[in-house]
Amino acid sequence: TSRPADNLSIARAVRLWPIEEIAHRLGLSGEAVEPYGRGIAKLDLSAMAALAERPRGRYVVVTSMTPTPPGEGKTTTAIGLVQGLQRLGHTASVALRQPSMGPTLGLKGGATGGGYSQVLPMERINLHLTGDLHAVGAAHNLLAAMVDNHLHHRLAPELDPREVRWQRVIDLNDRALRHLVMGLGGRGDGIPRQGGFEITAASEVMAVLALADSLVDLRRRLGRLIVGLDRDGEPVTAEQVGAAGAMTVLLKEALKPNLLQTLEHAPALIHAGPFGNIAHGNSSIVADRIGLHAADFLVTEAGFGADMGAERFFNIKCRASGLVPDAAVLVVTVRALKYHSGRHRVVPGQPLPASLLLESPDEVREGGANLLKQIDNVRAHGLDPVVAINAFPGDHESEVAAIRELCASAGVRAEVSSHVRDGGEGALALAEAVAEAAEAGGDFQYLYPADLPLAEKIERIATRLYGAEGVDFAPGTRERLEAWQRQGYGAFPVCIAKTHMSLSSDPGRLGAPTGWRLPVREVRLSAGAGFVYALAGDIRTMPGFSASPAATRLDIDEKGNTVGLY
Ligand code: ADP
Ligand code: MG
Repeated sequence: TSRPADNLSIARAVRLWPIEEIAHRLGLSGEAVEPYGRGIAKLDLSAMAALAERPRGRYVVVTSMTPTPPGEGKTTTAIGLVQGLQRLGHTASVALRQPSMGPTLGLKGGATGGGYSQVLPMERINLHLTGDLHAVGAAHNLLAAMVDNHLHHRLAPELDPREVRWQRVIDLNDRALRHLVMGLGGRGDGIPRQGGFEITAASEVMAVLALADSLVDLRRRLGRLIVGLDRDGEPVTAEQVGAAGAMTVLLKEALKPNLLQTLEHAPALIHAGPFGNIAHGNSSIVADRIGLHAADFLVTEAGFGADMGAERFFNIKCRASGLVPDAAVLVVTVRALKYHSGRHRVVPGQPLPASLLLESPDEVREGGANLLKQIDNVRAHGLDPVVAINAFPGDHESEVAAIRELCASAGVRAEVSSHVRDGGEGALALAEAVAEAAEAGGDFQYLYPADLPLAEKIERIATRLYGAEGVDFAPGTRERLEAWQRQGYGAFPVCIAKTHMSLSSDPGRLGAPTGWRLPVREVRLSAGAGFVYALAGDIRTMPGFSASPAATRLDIDEKGNTVGLY
């Protein structure tokens, strides 16, 4: 048997189609398509207005069970699924987040799919692409510079230097920048205060970019960003600092979705990449809208498991856009089910243990509690998920059969998909099942009404989706939530920042833990993005590199090709 080809050599063997031909598949041409180099274009938002007349396609979200540290394949499955739908004769595009360079150069390598389900050109997607992340950084840091300038000149409203909340950002993992003392020097060098950096994906500006549905909406949301408190404890906004207009100008190009293609030349929209814990972890609303009106299907990936990414997709993203999803795909793997049996020692950052490869349908059944809970979590929103069993080399027939039994017991459809090995051809059964589910539609509903008190929204998610017995609010957090309600933020959805490695807030608890309570340590307001978030774990907004980051393996060969990115 020959060794399967690696991602890079598979990608290199494919000839990219001119991006105009991909746009043509979406019925887009002329001024709507702005080429940005070989195989890449930005789509002008005027395309949205022209497309709005066309009927809307089916809206499909891809989520997963609680993953193992390397991930169960939402991205590859979303890509494989559109390739499968395309082979069935439908038009379909996939919408993905743009990867952040921090993780790309740090832990993960690329985030553009794998095998015969990839988006191209992967090197451009993973590094810079059309500069959107840098634009977000520039807009964010412009506001930071104007905040410090505001302090220096003692402009009104007078900011309290101890209550400035707006950090700086950079698109790298750089732990040494987490906590800084700024403004040192003399009288002319600004006001000394403590500050720090976060990674660009954690910027509220990134969440705003993902949720805005027009340039005007972007401008309005940026104006609402809260940068700190004045001497009376009242919030000061980007509007009051005078930065929101210039920030919008810096983000004008970044608001246009990026069009690329999969290995089988299906359209791929790669746009925005907000964090999946302190923010909602979904790609942009504008990209989804364009894809939905331009093709029969738009398949979008929601970060992390169904308790997190899909929950935010339903309750934050769909609420902001008003779009109604038609179907959900829940990605599972044999290895993740065995992992949830709790019988394997898995260390994040290290390869999965070989014990996970041994045939063990019993372990699959033992781990089934997680799958069943995540199925239930999708159902809580009125949709029956289609389970995609993402086939890995080394899966055993008996184990796949055990997954099928679990799904049958829950009354949901399950299909094996070998899209990584076989491309769209390997996803035909899944594509058929998804097309049928989308046709049948569901009875979509939000998990909670907008007017439910904020604390009760947190309780609803924790008890109904995570399986917690209740929520323990740290002193002062309930009062803050109540204060925000009085200030007019009560209709906001909530975003709970917890580990994605467990349904609970403890990453070590696998399966579907019961008998625990969700600790809410702190609550914060993202007034621009339009949600409240609750911290229920150790959430880092500026990662650090490991002792051996992926960057140490990245290089160019004599021909100028990039090596070490995969
Ligand atoms: P997610 O989007 O859920 O985080 P990805 O699709 O990025 O997951 O996949 C995680 C990793 O596993 C990637 O390196 C990907 O190439 C690899 N992978 C995913 N599916 C398969 C598969 N069926 N066979 C082999 N490797 C896979
Ligand atoms: Mg992914």
